[in-house]
Amino acid sequence: MSLITTTRLTVRSASQHAVRASTPTCKRRTFLNSIFSGPSTVKRRPRPEEESPALPTPTREYHPSPRPPEKVVHSAANARQFDEYPVKTVAVSIDDSPREFDTVFLRDSCTCPRCVDPHSKQKLFQTSDIPQKIEGTSRIVEDTDKGWMIEVEWQNDVPGYDAEHRTRHSLDWLRRALNTEVELRGGFRHDDRVLWDRDTITKNNKWVDYEDWMGEDEVLFDALSHLNKYGLLFLCNVPGSEVSVVDIASRIGTLKDTFYGRTWDVRSKPKAENIAYTPQFLGLHMDLLYTSNPPHLQLLHSLRARTPGGESFFSDAFHAAQKLHDVSKSHFRTLCTFPVTYHYHHKEYHYHNTRPTIETHPYPKYSEPTNLALHRVNWSPPFQAPFEARIGTSSPALRNYLAASHAYEKLLSAEDNLFEYRLNEGECVIFDNRRVLHARRAFDATKGERWLKGAYVDDDVFFSKLRVLEERFTGKWVAEGAVRPVVR
Ligand SMILES: [Zn+2]
Repeated sequence: MSLITTTRLTVRSASQHAVRASTPTCKRRTFLNSIFSGPSTVKRRPRPEEESPALPTPTREYHPSPRPPEKVVHSAANARQFDEYPVKTVAVSIDDSPREFDTVFLRDSCTCPRCVDPHSKQKLFQTSDIPQKIEGTSRIVEDTDKGWMIEVEWQNDVPGYDAEHRTRHSLDWLRRALNTEVELRGGFRHDDRVLWDRDTITKNNKWVDYEDWMGEDEVLFDALSHLNKYGLLFLCNVPGSEVSVVDIASRIGTLKDTFYGRTWDVRSKPKAENIAYTPQFLGLHMDLLYTSNPPHLQLLHSLRARTPGGESFFSDAFHAAQKLHDVSKSHFRTLCTFPVTYHYHHKEYHYHNTRPTIETHPYPKYSEPTNLALHRVNWSPPFQAPFEARIGTSSPALRNYLAASHAYEKLLSAEDNLFEYRLNEGECVIFDNRRVLHARRAFDATKGERWLKGAYVDDDVFFSKLRVLEERFTGKWVAEGAVRPVVR
């Protein structure tokens, strides 16, 4: 059923078309033209802000539209100057406002069984297959499962598709696409991390029972959300088995295998190759910064805790970075730029990577409560290699780094910012290795056994599980800082 109407909004939209139609439509520029045309005839690619009508305010909350969309959908020949070919759009009324969607976007995101394999969910054509001269005519249809949808009929479709091919998108899906686009373009970031000092984490520290973690998805979701928020989580009543840490990690997903093995042991042993295997004090650090993608999560399960000492402590490096920014923008900037090299250089393995201390998201804006678009921190003094860049005597860069690292270290290890805990047997800690630093006090290995079983989980694996559970329990999910409602 076609519902093309001539509402006020559609009329206004049509009049805009009329105005645009009076501007010369773009023709293929000839070689000579491109050589001899003066700058005034060269068409500048419009910036996104110039292209679109007034943008909606980004909304965090999802408001499904219960009523059918009475206004619609006019199509198509909305010609604009755009490089070689005019951009064709399809206008759709969403929440009483006319919105325009590029035909290429609508065609590219077609999910019909000819465009996306229903089983593998793989796309069966390439974006680069879409002809630049593609055009679409749309109408509104009601789908028994998916509600109100636009259905687009194509002219100049992807080669190989016949005239019967139709693309359908639900209005809910289009609304979400629009909001996501606005959020991403605006650098808007959803961020529910809570930065903590000792008092904050002491009040909010979370313990989860092993059986609940293993058996109840809702508990797992709550626990992973907490882990994402604070970067720290504890499990209790963990069976004293060497595979328990595998069982715990497997609830999130695949374990990260490294040259330490799929799981690894932290015990004291003589002639240690790694400082972590000796009973001496081990300062605040992160693991595996000398690899190209250091682990996101680290799990440590205590199998034996029979020595005096050996307390673990943790510090929120994001909190310290925020504090550093508060006291010295210049120190903060130094740590965002100065390259620090990390290495693991042994006979059998030679890992080597250079990274700045603080990494921020490449977005111009950010949202509360973090205030700074902190992405990751890299801080691992025990595994630092000699500096390789900006060490020249004529450059102040190294001295600036030294001053900034003094200030940062002071914040990281301030008593007020440390959360200390001695893991008992049958307990497991999980922490964000790119945010929360861990350390260990010295212990006396002659007085008993100390044995932790460790494992890692990658960021992709963690966020995949978190999104699956978010979708199931809250009806939305987050990627690139934009909240996306689950739509049909
Ligand atoms: Zn299709």
